[in-house]
Amino acid sequence: MSNIAFIGLGNMGGPMALNLVKAGHRVNVFDLSREAVGRLAQAGALAAGSAHAILEGAEIVISMLPASQHVEALYLGQDGILPQIEAGALVIDCSTIAPHSAVKVAQAAAARGLTMIDAPVSGGTAGAAAGTLTFIVGGAAEALERARPVLAQMGKNIFHAGANGAGQTAKICNNMLLGVLMAGTAEALALGVANGLDPKVLSDIMSKSSGRNWALELYNPYPGVMDNVPAARGYQGGFGVDLMVKDLGLAAEAALAARAAIPLGELARNLYALHSGSGAGALDFSSILQLLQTPPRG
Ligand code: NAD
Repeated sequence: MSNIAFIGLGNMGGPMALNLVKAGHRVNVFDLSREAVGRLAQAGALAAGSAHAILEGAEIVISMLPASQHVEALYLGQDGILPQIEAGALVIDCSTIAPHSAVKVAQAAAARGLTMIDAPVSGGTAGAAAGTLTFIVGGAAEALERARPVLAQMGKNIFHAGANGAGQTAKICNNMLLGVLMAGTAEALALGVANGLDPKVLSDIMSKSSGRNWALELYNPYPGVMDNVPAARGYQGGFGVDLMVKDLGLAAEAALAARAAIPLGELARNLYALHSGSGAGALDFSSILQLLQTPPRG
């Protein structure tokens, strides 16, 4: 069993850290939210008042933060933790961030003699809770082998995408596709309902037809179709609209850098940005349905 420092206990990091506690590791946790820290402490994690305070003796440091700026600040900022991480420790960042940020932090870690990988995840909050996440790793193959046992306690599928930053690039491609699929699924369901169909019947039909996809079958955006998805609880929890806007922005940056055309990704980014602008930024991204629903005729 390892001594693990886990930073960032939100919708994803919370259940991921919990699985490490359940696996018997000594897990020291920190989050800016005291409530999030309290929940993990109740479940058996060791809590402290700062990220620095959980680093002593840590063999593995895991972070699960919103975006590039949070990760860079945590490791490289004025009060950054990189200088305090003990020699020989393995650093795993599971956040979805810009590939160039992942490379920058990994290079700074390497300059200190630390091994770092980017290991963004897919599978949503349900996958995080069930320990069935997909990890998409960027970094040296030997570093991935060191990380594998602990990743396997939080996930089911572990892929090596390439060198540092490659995990992020693959994750960004996946999330661009997810953003497009969710918007398309919501649009199709809204069209059916506007023309008198029952959203559950339509979902059953499309799930066994050529329109089937993950958003439709496992994360249905229409309230009342599925239990245990954000649509069933007023779009609370899950994967925030603003996080999807961030990921589609990362896809746009990657497209500019490679002179690639991403017409559907850009359209999706604009749709989620409009939705966020209407006040939905903190809701789950499947709430994009609300932007596409036709108001009943009066
Ligand atoms: P979240 O907003 O629920 O959680 C982020 C947590 O980080 C919050 O609890 C916040 O207080 C904490 N935090 C921010 N800055 C911090 C700091 N400096 N020190 C300590 N804690 C800090 O986000 P989430 O949904 O858990 O997502 C985390 C990452 O995982 C994001 O990059 C997201 O894109 C990615 N992701 C999310 C999902 C999902 O379904 N929610 C799925 C795959 C990947």
